[in-house]
This record gives sequence, C-alpha cells and structure tokens, in this order.
Amino acid sequence: MRLIFATHNADKLREVKELIGYKYEVISLDELGDHEDIPENELTLEANALFKARMIWNKYGLACFSDDTGLEVDALEGAPGVISARYAGEAKDPQANIDKLLSALTQATKRSAQFRTTVALILDGKEYLFEGLVRGSIAAERQGNKGFGYDPIFIPEGYDRSFAQMDNAEKNSISHRGRAITKLVDFLI
Ligand code: IMP
Repeated sequence: MRLIFATHNADKLREVKELIGYKYEVISLDELGDHEDIPENELTLEANALFKARMIWNKYGLACFSDDTGLEVDALEGAPGVISARYAGEAKDPQANIDKLLSALTQATKRSAQFRTTVALILDGKEYLFEGLVRGSIAAERQGNKGFGYDPIFIPEGYDRSFAQMDNAEKNSISHRGRAITKLVDFLI
C-alpha cells in the first residue's frame, strides 16, 4: 500500500521511513514532484496535522498522513508548543530557536518538557488522529550533533544523553514521532 507523507522535511521522512519499514511504501511530496509549501497556521498540533493531510487528500485523493510536532516546556507553560518551528522568527532557524529557548530558561528552576507529535491520517476520506509523547528535560547547553531541530537540547526521561547523541534507531524507539507512527502502523495492519 502506498501512503503519501505530507511533508517537505527530509529529516522527518528519513525517520518515518525507518519506522514504517517495508510494510508500506511511504512517498513524500518532493518524491511526488510536489514542492508547494504547506501552511502551518493553526492554533493546535491536531489542527495543523489535519490541515496538511486534508490539503493532500483534496489534491490527490490518495491515502495520506501528516505530522505536527511541538516542544512543550513546563516552565514556559507549554511554549514554544505549536509555534516550535517559528519560535525565534519566520526564518525557522533551528539554531536561533535553541538559543532563544536556552535564554528563556536561564533563571528557570525546573527544566522539564515534552515533545508531542500528532499524526493525522486520511484513508478513504475518513480522518484519524494518533498522538505520541516523550517526557524529558532541556539541557543547559547543546549536546551531540545527530538528529535535527531541538534534538541537541532534549534529554529524554531515563537517559543522560540528548536525542542528538542517539542514532536514528535509538531515538525512534522512544521518541514522540516513533510512538505516534507506531500507533499509525498498528492501526493500519
Ligand atoms: P513541525 O512538526 O515541522 O512543525 O516541527 C516543529 C518544530 O519542532 C520544528 O522546529 C522542528 O525542527 C522541531 N521538531 C520536530 N520534530 C523534532 C524532533 O524529532 N526533534 C527535534 N526537533 C523536532
């Protein structure tokens, strides 16, 4: 079965292809030759994920899914959350986002946080949502250079290394996206 993954993010695509393996043929928008930007202007992860999946369903009428992820920091009342990509501005610069977050937490007494991913699937016109979450904490400084986004400063609960110090398989086995995609696969099989 072919599934369109409504993303232009090569890092997410790599992770998701590894997670889904050979059970489904996952095709990204770029692989379809579709380079149109997908807006993420909604107020929640769920609404953004649904918006992206609906855009692709309406365009192609093919089984498709999308994900939207937010880093929710307890001391910042859940920020940056749904605006994680644009936390430090429209340039969506991951390094600037990390710098801003570290600055916001210099005086913080707690550094607990969570990554939360919502996956929206549209199959035969029906919509389904799956959520994956991982608790952890924000490191005082960057650690590691694997992964992407906020990975260098996120230490998952029970570990003393950041996501950026783990290879794909280890991150996928405990990550927000890994958990949400596992639910998607369990639903599909
Ligand atoms: P989105 O799902 O592309 O909107 O992601 C929102 C923001 O969270 C972007 O800045 C991403 O780089 C970041 N992000 C999403 N997934 C991850 C992840 O697995 N690790 C680190 N950062 C992530």
